[in-house]
Amino acid sequence: MAERMLKFTVTPRSTPAKRAADARSGDFHEIYADFIDAKASEQAARCSQCGVPFCQTHCPLHNNIPDWLRMTAEGRLQEAYALSQATNSMPEICGRICPQDRLCEGSCVIEQSGHGTVTIGAVEKYLTDKAWEEGWVQPVAVGADRGQSVGVVGAGPAGLAAAERLRELGYAVTVYDRHDRAGGLLIYGIPGFKLEKDVVARRTRRLAEGGVEFRLNFEVGRDASLAELRERHESVLIATGVYQARDLAVPGAGSHGVVAALDYLIASNRQGLGDAVPEYDDGRLNAADKHVVVVGGGDTAMDCVRTAVRQGAASVTCLYRRDRANMPGSVREVAHAEEEGVVFEWLAAPRAVTGAELKAAGVRAVRMRLGAPDASGRQAPEPMEDADFDLKADLVIKALGFDPEDLPAAFGAGDLAVTRWGTLKADFRSMMTSVPGVFAAGDIVRGASLVVWAIRDGRDAAEAMHRYLSAHAAGALMAAE
Ligand SMILES: Cc1cc2nc3c(=O)[nH]c(=O)nc-3n(C[C@H](O)[C@H](O)[C@H](O)COP(=O)(O)OP(=O)(O)OC[C@H]3O[C@@H](n4cnc5c(N)ncnc54)[C@H](O)[C@@H]3O)c2cc1C
Ligand code: SF4
Repeated sequence: MAERMLKFTVTPRSTPAKRAADARSGDFHEIYADFIDAKASEQAARCSQCGVPFCQTHCPLHNNIPDWLRMTAEGRLQEAYALSQATNSMPEICGRICPQDRLCEGSCVIEQSGHGTVTIGAVEKYLTDKAWEEGWVQPVAVGADRGQSVGVVGAGPAGLAAAERLRELGYAVTVYDRHDRAGGLLIYGIPGFKLEKDVVARRTRRLAEGGVEFRLNFEVGRDASLAELRERHESVLIATGVYQARDLAVPGAGSHGVVAALDYLIASNRQGLGDAVPEYDDGRLNAADKHVVVVGGGDTAMDCVRTAVRQGAASVTCLYRRDRANMPGSVREVAHAEEEGVVFEWLAAPRAVTGAELKAAGVRAVRMRLGAPDASGRQAPEPMEDADFDLKADLVIKALGFDPEDLPAAFGAGDLAVTRWGTLKADFRSMMTSVPGVFAAGDIVRGASLVVWAIRDGRDAAEAMHRYLSAHAAGALMAAE
């Protein structure tokens, strides 16, 4: 084994080829090419097969990374795929969009010794894409019918991961979503240049073929209350994500031309999917030929700036109130945006949206500095004196993060307890909310987070619901005897 592995001293790290910035800026296709077989095996062979694999510990799914890297290096691709999908419901999606620099690859031991991390995400994507091509991806292994049904509210990664596992355990599963397509932010938030839509669609198709019933255009709160879902199903999972955009609290923020990030991204994704999007066609949610300023520094902001580039903006500037080192967005995404021509104004915050007759024409911004650390230990940004500057802007995109909607009110469920941040309160172990038989998973519990955590929560919630439903079925049987 050692002969084939531990090649990090002689083989440099190499990622799949990336399309040149000017070529990729004109379309919404993914920017990385696929690994060719020999390259995947060469890169997998760089793994040092640590006794204590920190990559595995820092992967939220605890993927068995060293073992599937070894199998890939040895050319045992089908086995490697089987092992990788045993712990991950969507390995090819995580391989594409996990911020690996903060998770598995961020704790790779050979990175710590200066050799450059193993390209774990790229190998994971390669294995599962290969599995789809070769027909190794099996239909959902539906368990023996238990005669119990489960309702899942939300077809994002948390809901989909739970639905798959519950089907494997033999439950009838109905997934409700207010959108017309399943996938949640994988379809309507994350742009195609990070994750092409057919990669998500083939996952949901597989679930539908495995008997998961999708009820789309169905909004819980409008089309049914939580109590009604409780009557239809033995148990319910809430996996609705967080969608209330934080507002820009500066003068002029209500002007025509100031838009919410998710409205902008949904319009772009819908347009790419071939839907009619009047707000895109009439220019309200289209950056073509405009000077665009995006306010914020997370993944959503990075997706907005890069979408604006692809729509043909005249200029794209990102305003972020902290510095590059303190930016929440992935380092990789910032680098991609810079390559594509986005200008970053670090340590800068908006003071006002300027313009005439309520139409945005610019942003007055102020330079910031990092002050003393606050209670969380993070340095708080504060405005500098006499440091205002102006930027041209006829489209201002607010990407300041998301809060949960008021679910108890929307669902007509006053007994659904929430935290002071508005996320659902769910017991750490049982994952059950304050309403018996109702469970919760994903962003609606954690606050805005990551796809890989949503998958982990969805899988855990399915197991927790199974324990609950098995205990109930056993109780009912004993009562009947
Ligand atoms: C622009 C953007 C880019 C991102 N980029 C990345 C990235 O690169 N990598 C990464 O790991 N994470 C990224 N994330 C975060 C990631 O998308 C989320 O953490 C993840 O999707 C959360 O999954 P979820 O299943 O909890 O919720 P969601 O994906 O939000 O899905 C929730 C679903 O519930 C539905 N729903 C909501 N309310 C109702 C209701 N009342 N009735 C019926 N259905 C309802 C919604 O329509 C939606 O389909 C990004 C997020 C955004 C916004
Ligand atoms: S799921 Fe994400 S964190 Fe885990 S191994 Fe894959 S890319 Fe890394």
